[in-house]
Amino acid sequence: MAGLIGLLFLFAVTADAGAGELALSFDDGLDPRAVPEAADWNAAILSSLATAGVRSILFAAGRNVDSAPGLALVADWGRAGHAVGNHTYAHASLSGRMTAARYLADIDRNARLLASVPGFVARFRYPYLAEGETRAQRDGVRRGLVARGYGSGAVSVDASDWYYASRFVDWRRAHAGADPAPFREAYLAHILGRVRYYDGLAQEVLGRSPRHMLLLHTNAINAAFLPDLIAALRGAGFTLISPEEAYADPLYAKVPDVLPAGQSLVWSLAKAAGRPGLRFPAEDDRYEAPVLDARGL
Ligand SMILES: [Zn+2]
Repeated sequence: MAGLIGLLFLFAVTADAGAGELALSFDDGLDPRAVPEAADWNAAILSSLATAGVRSILFAAGRNVDSAPGLALVADWGRAGHAVGNHTYAHASLSGRMTAARYLADIDRNARLLASVPGFVARFRYPYLAEGETRAQRDGVRRGLVARGYGSGAVSVDASDWYYASRFVDWRRAHAGADPAPFREAYLAHILGRVRYYDGLAQEVLGRSPRHMLLLHTNAINAAFLPDLIAALRGAGFTLISPEEAYADPLYAKVPDVLPAGQSLVWSLAKAAGRPGLRFPAEDDRYEAPVLDARGL
């Protein structure tokens, strides 16, 4: 009997640990005019996704990819079966003096650029996850996106892979030929930590674990460590799903009423619910610099 109870307990723990579902998304796209490694990093990320059998979405910003070689790298995503979404042309923040009309015109400019790219879908992600500081900015752009038929490009899990990537590039330059394992461990710990944090916050505000959407970027650290990251997420019990599967979760139909609007959708819902202890901005290099400094990286 005790053995049976032990077995049932073990099953409950295991089932709980394996309950998570998560999709990967990558922002910005690489600019071969500015980044000599652009084609290599793009190919490395796509190869890692293919090897792992994971379908993803690239949210491309026109300013990065508006060249023949840049658009060719974006097209590689579509041809490999991934989706390509809209991330504005200029990658401006919906804040300050930006107007909804100017912002929407920039979204339309990017849509014209990407229209002929294979895999292009009407999904929009806000640069910096900034959805407006005023009601006029926020609601004007939200209405414009609905009128244009855009679906959600929200994220449930925000993180600072962009900052780890910039530190990784510096570290590698200063430690040519060194084993990157310490940096890999720091990076995996960061992403897994943010996944656990937002999953816990989601359980508080939704009463369940949603189908997560993780925000990553097309950068050096994902070119180097994406296979390890995918293995770590699977090892933590997450099933990797496609973006379309993730966005079918009713979470992404929610439109929280907070200002400034944005951040992770889970964070935003927690803010709307008055949950104390939320840091703002939710993710930033100011939190991560001391972590990497303490590890000597
Ligand atoms: Zn971006």
